[in-house]
Amino acid sequence: MTAIRAARGWWAASLTLAAALACGDGGGPVGAPGGRDGLELAYATPRLRVVAAGEVATVRIALIVRRRTAEGAFEPLADARLAVEREEGRGQLSAAAAVTDPDGLASVDVAVPGGPDLTRVVFRMESDAGSYLPFDVVTAPVVEADLAPGEVRDRVDVPKGGAILRFRLEPGSDVLLIPYETDPDRTGATYRLLYQGPAPGAGASASGADPPRLPRSLAPPPESGDVIEGEGAHRGRLAPATIAESIDIRSCMISTSRQAPLRYLGSRVALYVDGPADEGQARIDSIGSAFDERIFPRNTELFGVTSDVDGNGVVIVILSPELVGADGAYCDSIRRVGVEAFFVTWRHDYSVDQTLAVIAHEHQHLVNAWHHSQTNGGVGDDRWLNEGLSFAAEALNGYWRDSMIRLWTFLNGQNGGLSMLPLDYVSAFDDRYMALVLYVEDRFGPGALRALTQSGLRGVDNLEHVTGLTFEELLRDWFVAVGVSNRGWTDDPRYAYRSLDLHGMEQEIEACRCAPVESFSGMRLETLPLSNPFDVSRMLDRADADYYRLVPAASGPGTYDVYFDAFGREFVQIAMVRAR
Ligand SMILES: [Zn+2]
Repeated sequence: MTAIRAARGWWAASLTLAAALACGDGGGPVGAPGGRDGLELAYATPRLRVVAAGEVATVRIALIVRRRTAEGAFEPLADARLAVEREEGRGQLSAAAAVTDPDGLASVDVAVPGGPDLTRVVFRMESDAGSYLPFDVVTAPVVEADLAPGEVRDRVDVPKGGAILRFRLEPGSDVLLIPYETDPDRTGATYRLLYQGPAPGAGASASGADPPRLPRSLAPPPESGDVIEGEGAHRGRLAPATIAESIDIRSCMISTSRQAPLRYLGSRVALYVDGPADEGQARIDSIGSAFDERIFPRNTELFGVTSDVDGNGVVIVILSPELVGADGAYCDSIRRVGVEAFFVTWRHDYSVDQTLAVIAHEHQHLVNAWHHSQTNGGVGDDRWLNEGLSFAAEALNGYWRDSMIRLWTFLNGQNGGLSMLPLDYVSAFDDRYMALVLYVEDRFGPGALRALTQSGLRGVDNLEHVTGLTFEELLRDWFVAVGVSNRGWTDDPRYAYRSLDLHGMEQEIEACRCAPVESFSGMRLETLPLSNPFDVSRMLDRADADYYRLVPAASGPGTYDVYFDAFGREFVQIAMVRAR
């Protein structure tokens, strides 16, 4: 304990020392900005000013010096002498020193260069170098963002030092801004959206041009899901081609050993139910016939044929209350023992449709497993894509309850610094896997999911092969699609969902009573009103996008300069959509 404390103390002390040395070495300020020993240095113009390259020649920066009186109030300090120093950049200062006027105000002009630049200027009290205030003047190129109503610009080439997006908007216009990054590996990219207002005052932006420090996003660790890979793929024991009267429920997810009797034998399925023999036959019959008549043909159309390695003509479904912690499981039975089988939880508080949703889900895993075992020897596609296909199976079979909950979560879960598509499977993000897979079928289908199942490829490679797009292009289009689909802004098929109505689903919501609204209203957009200055800094996770809506001021048409900066990270992009 003592050793740890001592070590911590040493660590903290050396950090402080390192920080002091770092500033001292560079000739920069030491101490905290804003004054000390009864002095207050306050911004009279914003700490950060962004001006259009080539359009603005000089920027005046100013501060106010005050002194604390005996009563504890602050009064302006006249005739205070300040040194003014450029620490960074190419801007030229009009003076190297400044003196405060009777109001305590001191200023210098910065002549900005014609090209992109960040000039940092520090005012420092001559009587006390520890009382200082820094200013940043950014000169950025202008990107004309004059979009027509309905126009989508999916990628704006923003230079390294950021850019001013210039909008000309009437009252009632509506612009969607989608900062994004499509890299599935790079995390923690910060960006900033800054609007200074038409006449920036001191309060417009009190923060600097440095990227604000934000906490690293903490995604949950990857999970194993409900497709359980067998220990070594051996096909030693082949099941007989006959249908057994009962089956042992013991499996990869159930440790109990017990016989479950055959309760339904249909054309495509044999249901073994681990429950009292005299209960629930009507329920079991309706589950069996729904699989035979609806789920099996629909999944065949969507994903491809179901194998019959064991030659019994049916899929074995074992329903047991012993399956806990998951609603269903596929235990790699095709590769391990050459049998088409999966497990589904048997719960009395589940409706028939809830059980059927799980069956549609697990059946997809079974189909996926056989195709992959034939092509690449695996138990299925990459976990996240395999699960996405199963969630799509639930929705496309019309089992909307959980799909609606996932869609609600998806539409209300962005702008939070967590990935839109983490490729390490995490069940908390099931909503996103579902949303992407449905988009792929809607845009590239019918037949896109079948192609994914049968290509012999996995994950990102599989999606690139089937869609003909790079993964980056696919993600970018999807990011835009979930922002604009079903809003009536554009009829571009690249941005359209057909299986889902992101602006509707009233009937499905009414039937399941599973969302806190009567109708969906699209991706939730964070509003940025142009009637006031704003300064928004956020962090994007891997493969992530955020969603904003620019709302122009109510009075007359206006030109609005919105500064976008990703602090040198060129893989951070921004898309813009003009709604009206
Ligand atoms: Zn699953």
